[in-house]
Amino acid sequence: MEPVDTDVTGPENHDGGPRGGEAPSGKDASGKNAAAGQAQVPTLGEMLLAVEELWPESLAENWDEVGLVAGHPSAPVTRVMFAVDPTLEVIEEAVEWGAELLITHHPLLLKGVTSVAATTPKGRAVHRLIESGTALLTVHTNGDSAVGGVSDVLADALGLQDAAPLTVAANGLPEEGIGRVGDLPEAMSLGDFAARVFGILPSVAGGVRVSGDKDGLVRRIAVCGGAGDSLFNEVRASNADVYVTADLRHHPASEAREAAHNGRPYLIDVSHFASEWLWLPAAAAALGNVLADQGHDVEIQVSTTNSDPWDFILTPG
Ligand SMILES: [Zn+2]
Repeated sequence: MEPVDTDVTGPENHDGGPRGGEAPSGKDASGKNAAAGQAQVPTLGEMLLAVEELWPESLAENWDEVGLVAGHPSAPVTRVMFAVDPTLEVIEEAVEWGAELLITHHPLLLKGVTSVAATTPKGRAVHRLIESGTALLTVHTNGDSAVGGVSDVLADALGLQDAAPLTVAANGLPEEGIGRVGDLPEAMSLGDFAARVFGILPSVAGGVRVSGDKDGLVRRIAVCGGAGDSLFNEVRASNADVYVTADLRHHPASEAREAAHNGRPYLIDVSHFASEWLWLPAAAAALGNVLADQGHDVEIQVSTTNSDPWDFILTPG
């Protein structure tokens, strides 16, 4: 994906420039549509309807918590920021920019809480949001599963054709679900493919780790943005030559390599943050288009905060 809109910037990619989102129908990601004429400021409630159109809550996994975390549905929204994590730094960035709505991929409150006192980081986050009048909305596994979701965008950025879900959504269409598997137009070496993966992701300290023969040819590619080590059975069943995902721990990775046939699937382990960050410009553009079609005037930006928790890495040599 190439930068096309200055409203949508984020961590630099490995090619050096700020990353940007593509606006599929030619409108820009800010949601401004020159033809709209009398654009109107939507309420938060109207924003929720637009979000539901793109990433229905029914697509979320049953363990997940998605939807509105803080905010008044009647409040007007003129600025929306997208981010991966609802960290205090990200919330501060949204507040300083004047966003009335922050949409994050990861939930702030996934587990039950008995207090939101400002004595913990999550409590401080809740206070900052409410005191600044900034709503928070989570689009998590519903954003993973949807067409145009996290893994779809990753598959697209890698140039995969005919990408289909690794697991079809229980409550969705056949093209909705977790992970994607598709084919490169031509086979390439694992080394070259890993370089392609490295090139499309934002720069993070952890880089990209690869398990497999650098010269081995790969064409069928499975991907899962975020942590995907629960999908090895589906990856094997898909006959993928390589699996790109994040957070691969020793035992699942080691066991998957032991179970490999002809060395495949090879593994490419990337940053959880980076693999999901790719979705943000696409999500911003998609929401901008829906809002513009509805005659709403909203500015949309992608957070420039790098919330990958790792800062540097030591490697031999
Ligand atoms: Zn994630």
